[in-house]
Amino acid sequence: MEVSDNFQVLLNNPQLLPELKNVAEKVLHNQRITFDEGVLLYQKAELGYLGVLANYIREQKHGDKTYFNRNFHIEPTNLCVYDCKFCSYSRLLKQKSEGWEYTMEEMLDIVKKYDDQPVTEVHIVGGVLPQYDVAFYSELFTRIRRHRPDLHVKALTPVEYHYIFKKAKIDYATGMQMMKDAGLQSIPGGGAEIFHPEVRELISKDKCTGEQWLAIHEEWHKIGMRSNATMLYGHIEQFKHRVDHMERLRELQDRTGGFQTFIPLKFRNQDNQMSNVPESTVVEDLRNYAIARIYLDNFDHIKAYWAMISRTTAQLSLNFGVDDIDGTLDDTTKIYSMAGAEEQNPGMSTKELVELIKNAGRHPIERDTLYNVMTDYKDFQFADEVKPRYYKLPVIN
Ligand code: SF4
Repeated sequence: MEVSDNFQVLLNNPQLLPELKNVAEKVLHNQRITFDEGVLLYQKAELGYLGVLANYIREQKHGDKTYFNRNFHIEPTNLCVYDCKFCSYSRLLKQKSEGWEYTMEEMLDIVKKYDDQPVTEVHIVGGVLPQYDVAFYSELFTRIRRHRPDLHVKALTPVEYHYIFKKAKIDYATGMQMMKDAGLQSIPGGGAEIFHPEVRELISKDKCTGEQWLAIHEEWHKIGMRSNATMLYGHIEQFKHRVDHMERLRELQDRTGGFQTFIPLKFRNQDNQMSNVPESTVVEDLRNYAIARIYLDNFDHIKAYWAMISRTTAQLSLNFGVDDIDGTLDDTTKIYSMAGAEEQNPGMSTKELVELIKNAGRHPIERDTLYNVMTDYKDFQFADEVKPRYYKLPVIN
């Protein structure tokens, strides 16, 4: 790929620290950066520098292509046996009266509501309760697939799997094979938080460990299936913990190749036990996307949740390594809004999302869960105009 002018200017900058110049040379020559270099980027690299490197990698992998998918969420319950300090969602210890627990039939009714909608995926994740066990989820997956075979079932995280397999006294390999046989097609990236025990012990000590999270994904990959990975950043962790987190993912990906997408999740401090912890700045969010893009050289995609970080930051992120925006969803998910996300009613139509991506100078592509192209929107014309969510003011010269 041709080296951009920006990259050349950066390399020729006499004020650039030699160790940062060395990292830039590595990126230019498709070489992997080390753990210490990852920490160095967090400590010393400026936003502009990181943007040049991350965008170079992003465009090498995907050009201007920016992916999204059409999905909907089912959150079986917001009650949970665990008590993660950052969680704004669980209601077991706080206001149990605000909780919900969907039955099997209620969840199937949600699926049926989308029968005439062009969605390709149902994303199922929520709290952990004893009645949602191996038998329950096996039946749920089977019935969804039977009702709508073209709908991709992406469901549950190792937090739930570790809990239900332990209760059923089955090992991870057996359990994941049972889930696959029942109709599960991929697993989302949640529950990863920060793997390092120095942090995990403090923020979510009772649920699965980092090693167990990785082991469950590994078993899933071993049977030929795909998954995603997240990292909850911007709270009490140090930079070395973020790099350690990505290092463990990179190492597993080298062995299995089963991860598709890495999704950094910004810690939000509304209505949880860590409300005293300040949130990261937008600059830090963009730096974090960029460093993830640079560090995780064996991950195809970096995704931003627009509902969590705002539409504007999502647009900016497309220049800092992000090539995937999640997604067109209506208000079927409460996870972001309850944590204090920018969007309290996270709905965006396909037209709006396509315009958002085009206005950032990128090429929108609707994908399915496994990144097969559903619709290429590069030259697509919508019948009616998108209603902008801002006032058009006259330009005064
Ligand atoms: S983060 Fe997940 S596992 Fe932890 S308390 Fe909240 S719902 Fe439960």
